[in-house]
Amino acid sequence: MTEQTIPRRLVGRVAVVTGGASGIGLATARRMAAEGAKVAVVDVCEESIGEPLAEELGGMFVKTDVTDSDAVEAMFASVKAAYGSIDIAFNNAGISPPEDDSILDTDLAAWRRVQEVNLTSVYLCCKHVLPYMLEQGRGSIINTASFVAIMGAATSQISYSASKGGVLSMTRELGVQFARKGVRVNALCPGPVNTPLLKELFAADPEKAQRRLVHVPMGRFGEPEEMAAAVAFLASDDSSFMTANEFVVDGGISSAYVTPVD
Ligand code: NAD
Repeated sequence: MTEQTIPRRLVGRVAVVTGGASGIGLATARRMAAEGAKVAVVDVCEESIGEPLAEELGGMFVKTDVTDSDAVEAMFASVKAAYGSIDIAFNNAGISPPEDDSILDTDLAAWRRVQEVNLTSVYLCCKHVLPYMLEQGRGSIINTASFVAIMGAATSQISYSASKGGVLSMTRELGVQFARKGVRVNALCPGPVNTPLLKELFAADPEKAQRRLVHVPMGRFGEPEEMAAAVAFLASDDSSFMTANEFVVDGGISSAYVTPVD
């Protein structure tokens, strides 16, 4: 979409984007800023990376490890102090390390690390942002799950898949619990997206990449900007009757039994 055709649905809104320095998070931070939001880019990356990105967006960078409860609490407090409200939380930071593989090969340390970064972090971000949103009587939370939360893969990443299932379940429960309080909670379920996370995983195993691609009806991986457009919709009032939902953006994977040939 060109700059001219991007709607301005988020004017006056404050958005926090975790994992905002790369991939889906960065594309979403850019999209939200283009739609008029004040954006806090939250990431564990160095200031030398995060600060210029936030500056480009006219927002703020808050270096935070989202597995650290005190740090997450302090991060939301600093955004609230700087911008006066928190209207959108895109809880998106996640990892997909190669040591998380088949259950037969994945040790407990690898399992726990992925659960901490992908699932516990979403619990912490929701727990610490909800009081602000409930006080305002307004908010949209979007948690990044994955298509693997709804489908099984023979090329397993056991802890990753389980963590994303947890994100989806937690999202449903929170969405239902707070539906009458003005706070909506939805999960984004991306298919495979062309980001550093996916590239790192597939660089280690090109055969795995090929096996995944074969199952995408569109015959390509998604782009971060395509996820960003979906998140901006979920963040905006255009999705005002959607909550506790899974929003699947996967090039058709989850509906395909066989995929078309050219
Ligand atoms: P990415 O690696 O490009 O970006 C992830 C960002 O999260 C990085 O900037 C990283 O520094 C940050 N991060 C990692 N650990 C952190 C921590 N403890 N605290 C704060 N920040 C941390 O990845 P991406 O592909 O953009 O993935 C974003 C989300 O989308 C993840 O939750 C991922 O599981 C999910 N997802 C990705 C795909 C895909 O194919 N790329 C598919 C489905 C779901």
